[in-house]
Amino acid sequence: MDILMTGSGRHRTAMTWRVLLYLLLVTAPLAVRGLFGNSSGFDITTGIGLVLGLTGFAVLALQPVLSARFRWIERPFGLDRMLRMHRVTGAVGVLFVIVHPVLLALGRGSSRLLVSLDLPWFLLAAKATLALLVLFGAAALLRSRLRIPFQLWFRCHSWLTPVILCGVFLHSYMAAVRFQPVEMRILWFGLLGTGVFSHLHLALWRRLGGRLRPWKVGSVTGITHDVWDIQLVPPVGREVFEYLPGQFLFVTLLRGRGLPREEHPFTISSSPSAKGSISITPKESGDYTRTTGKTMKGDRAAVMAPYGRFSHLLRPLSDRLVFIAGGIGITPMMSMLRHMRDSGSEQKVLLLYANRTESDIAFLDELESMASGEGGPMLEIVHVLSRPDPSWGGETGYLDRVRLERLVGDPEGSEFYVCGPPPMMKIAEKSLKDMGAGKDRIHVERFSL
Ligand SMILES: Cc1cc2nc3c(=O)[nH]c(=O)nc-3n(C[C@H](O)[C@H](O)[C@H](O)COP(=O)(O)OP(=O)(O)OC[C@H]3O[C@@H](n4cnc5c(N)ncnc54)[C@H](O)[C@@H]3O)c2cc1C
Repeated sequence: MDILMTGSGRHRTAMTWRVLLYLLLVTAPLAVRGLFGNSSGFDITTGIGLVLGLTGFAVLALQPVLSARFRWIERPFGLDRMLRMHRVTGAVGVLFVIVHPVLLALGRGSSRLLVSLDLPWFLLAAKATLALLVLFGAAALLRSRLRIPFQLWFRCHSWLTPVILCGVFLHSYMAAVRFQPVEMRILWFGLLGTGVFSHLHLALWRRLGGRLRPWKVGSVTGITHDVWDIQLVPPVGREVFEYLPGQFLFVTLLRGRGLPREEHPFTISSSPSAKGSISITPKESGDYTRTTGKTMKGDRAAVMAPYGRFSHLLRPLSDRLVFIAGGIGITPMMSMLRHMRDSGSEQKVLLLYANRTESDIAFLDELESMASGEGGPMLEIVHVLSRPDPSWGGETGYLDRVRLERLVGDPEGSEFYVCGPPPMMKIAEKSLKDMGAGKDRIHVERFSL
């Protein structure tokens, strides 16, 4: 637990070691070249070009490691942060391999390398791979703006990754590494092997792992007009994995009947204190989630879990927890509240819960019973509705700065958890910071990876 506890010495050490190991690996080609190779005979431009080429390959080869969901790597960071790092390092790697031939051409004083097609096959292969990489990078950056469907993007990403890795490997090996000392060749195969292993690990797990011993759907319950609660039961003879309230999973519902079999992330809305099963609570929001209600008891499910660091148990005790939830962003808060209730915690909690109408409020009865019950968290709930019925007597409007200031009061001694639609989260985060809540006391969960 200590390694997970944010801000603890072990947590910081765990993060630092992983970052250092990563930096060591991406700079290893330079070290090997410096130690064992012959670096003379290049002008500075060509030298930098080679450095970028070697480092660019190492960065790209390690990209699958960052996205492979290896728990021992991801644990101190959280998967969402790992995937953000994966995007940044990917952009850096692509930039390096794009600039690399430009510098080599400049160093040689000839643009032949860039424009001619009369080149050895491995240089032509490099050009094709580079074109693919540029398209790939542009699609990654512009996916939301171009409205590229997530599944299409993810499939292309999965299939193109090995193609790009092999293209970059073949080029660099044929063009440079085979003239290098044997240590460099070992390193090259090591880096390629690490990347391919990580890629296959995730691809095979997603296709096979969870399907060999699938979980079962125990029940499907509508909890509002567009929100469903799905109970998942582990395979016979197996127990529910250990998880923290607020964490999430990846699930592939294997439903047949022409329904999509896609893997999607959902918060585990149940509490670890409830043994024997877990629950997820999908809201109908897109093509896939709109089919949630067609899930049936007895359907199978492949589950990969748990992930994430959005849990009050990962932070030291505080005077008060302030949960700011919008719509289906209530699910991680629900898991944490259920855990507090079941473990008899008397933690003071203020829940600010924004929805459009009263009928959109998920878990209304359970929340009310927690707020009025005894022997659980000291829970105060403020519902804020943006389009209430005329009969509504509570808060009306949005969770803006003025309202947050009024409802939250003095932020001193409070720990803040925010999850909801992106515009709400942006306003809440900024307002809390402006109100004086320290950045390290504001925790956010984004429902996009
Ligand atoms: C950590 C986390 C926890 C979440 N918890 C919940 C929850 O408790 N309840 C809930 O209703 N929703 C939750 N979501 C959001 C849920 O995963 C998306 O709403 C759902 O995947 C959308 O799928 P769709 O095809 O219906 O919608 P679409 O309109 O096709 O997708 C909307 C957006 O969701 C994301 N998305 C779509 N498919 C995937 C996928 N297969 N993998 C990853 N992202 C995808 C993309 O950013 C996409 O732009 C969570 C998301 C994350 C990352």
